[in-house]
Amino acid sequence: IKNILDPALVLGFSNLREMRTVGPHRIAAGHGIYVTDTDGKDYIEGASCFYCSALGFSEEELVEAAVRQFRELPFYSSGLHRAVPAVMELAEKLRDLTPIKNAKIALGATGSEANDFLLKFVRAADRMTGRSGRWKVISRLRSYHGGTLATASMTGVPESHAQFGLPLPGFLHTHQPDYFNMALPGEDEAAFTARMLGDLRDLIEREGPETIACMVAEPVSLSAGLVPPPEGYWAGLQALLAEYGIRLFADEVITGFGRTGPMFGSETYGIDPECITLAKAMSGAYLPVSAVVMAPDFYDALELASDEAGGFTHAGTYAGHPVCAAVALRTIELFEERDILGHVARIAPRFAAGLAAFADHPLVGDTRSVGLCGAVEFVAAKAPRRAPQPEGILSKKFAAFAKDRGLIVRMPYNSVCLAPPLVITESEIDEMCARFGRALHDLEA
Ligand code: PMP
Repeated sequence: IKNILDPALVLGFSNLREMRTVGPHRIAAGHGIYVTDTDGKDYIEGASCFYCSALGFSEEELVEAAVRQFRELPFYSSGLHRAVPAVMELAEKLRDLTPIKNAKIALGATGSEANDFLLKFVRAADRMTGRSGRWKVISRLRSYHGGTLATASMTGVPESHAQFGLPLPGFLHTHQPDYFNMALPGEDEAAFTARMLGDLRDLIEREGPETIACMVAEPVSLSAGLVPPPEGYWAGLQALLAEYGIRLFADEVITGFGRTGPMFGSETYGIDPECITLAKAMSGAYLPVSAVVMAPDFYDALELASDEAGGFTHAGTYAGHPVCAAVALRTIELFEERDILGHVARIAPRFAAGLAAFADHPLVGDTRSVGLCGAVEFVAAKAPRRAPQPEGILSKKFAAFAKDRGLIVRMPYNSVCLAPPLVITESEIDEMCARFGRALHDLEA
């Protein structure tokens, strides 16, 4: 009985039919960058469990921070009229940390919630700044932004929209700028970027720029398979949006907190977003907490809206949960005390070299990395390099091989992504790459 689990109870991320036949992978314990299943087998969590566990799976300091706050005040809802010190301290910390100067912070529990809040906020902010006709949202194909109706609409996976009657009206999708898979023969990166941005301009013109509120994008998308922005992409994209008065928001639910090297992906890629959403690694994923980080002018517009009769209201019982806030605060302190960013900078080259060593494998079309995230893109045959590939077959097969050899990876589309806990050591990187290599060797056999 103990091993029987109704798959419906744990449905999430996966396909129900597949789970009924294979059963869920039962992970029971964690230590450092490793997790252990109920059979006692160890795995390197090569993707930090959905890019969350930046500090690994056994950080006592975070447990202690939670216990301290549980003892002091386990719960009190924070909002305009109430504030718990831990929540205020977290908000102040985020204000000082993020690239948006003098930012204002709204807290939530999940990444979806933060993105959903932001989509709501922008409507109120636009109404108060004479932009009421702007209600549409642009995002990019293959990017994941969440599971609520609005954020699932924003998520650029048309195949998964149909079953829910999505996207909701006003959610528009533009290309993921995937040079490796989408470039035309002979097209260089600059020309490819120009074509991508030209298509976006056409979309904006077609829809009417005066109807579009914002574009939401990850600085670099891991859900799309770590698609590196091609040459000139971000500068050109920002200029284009500015030309049409379309706000730019960065979804940093994955790229926030050191994943790409610097603290935020916006810094890595020179992006200047008006708002940023954060979650996952912000609390080392020890407890759910997320944030919307807003430029002061944007927030001021919200405040105006809240002054109107029947105007803007916003609340969430767990928006600013004291224990979650205390853990997030301690996480950020640990980043500073232990110089996690310095550590990432020191070991990222070893990680990059480990992945690059697979580039000559006959089933590998491309390898790429930034900070401590990387991808290996599979192709059915080495040449022609960019022939259309049967979607996800090799990457799924590889992920199963890797799991057998003690390595957990993510496998978006034809890529396999690695994004280990940021606390990984050099010898653990070597071990992770060795397990990767063994899986690759056996995949070929
Ligand atoms: N944005 C991005 C970029 C994500 O990867 C995710 C989750 N994978 C979300 C938003 C949604 O976060 P959550 O699952 O915490 O709701």
